[in-house]
Amino acid sequence: MSPDENALPRTEDEWRVRLTPEEFRVLREAGTERPFTGEYVDTKTAGVYHCRACGLELFSSDTKFDSHCGWPSFDDAIPGRVKEIQDHSLGMARTEIRCARCDSHLGHVFHGEGFTPKDTRHCVNSVSIRLEPNPG
Ligand SMILES: [Zn+2]
Repeated sequence: MSPDENALPRTEDEWRVRLTPEEFRVLREAGTERPFTGEYVDTKTAGVYHCRACGLELFSSDTKFDSHCGWPSFDDAIPGRVKEIQDHSLGMARTEIRCARCDSHLGHVFHGEGFTPKDTRHCVNSVSIRLEPNPG
C-alpha cells in the first residue's frame, strides 16, 4: 500500500514531511516571509495561484496588483477559497487569511487602503502559494 498522494495530511508531523522548513513555518505556524524576498512579489504572469500546501485554487492573477508592500497582493480571492480569522497577535487587530480547505496560513487581508476600486488587499506570502501559468 502506497500512501495516497492526494490525501491531505491530518497531523502537523505529516505536514512537516510534505513541506520544506520555510513552507512549514509560514503555512502551518503562521510565519511571515521577509518583505521583498518572495518569488512572486513582482510577478505579472497570467495564471492562477494555488495553495502550496493542498493545491486549491485561491487567487487569479487578474486580481494581483502592485502594492509596493513587499508581498504579493490581490484585491480579491476566488470565492469561497479563503477564510478570514481575527488575529490579535503582535498587539494589532488584523484579519488573518487561511486556505479554506487545508487551514494553512496565507497572510492577512486589509481594507480601506485605497489601492484599487475594491479597496481590499490580500497580503500573501509567496511561499504559501504556487503560480500555475495559463497555457499558451
Ligand atoms: Zn490549502
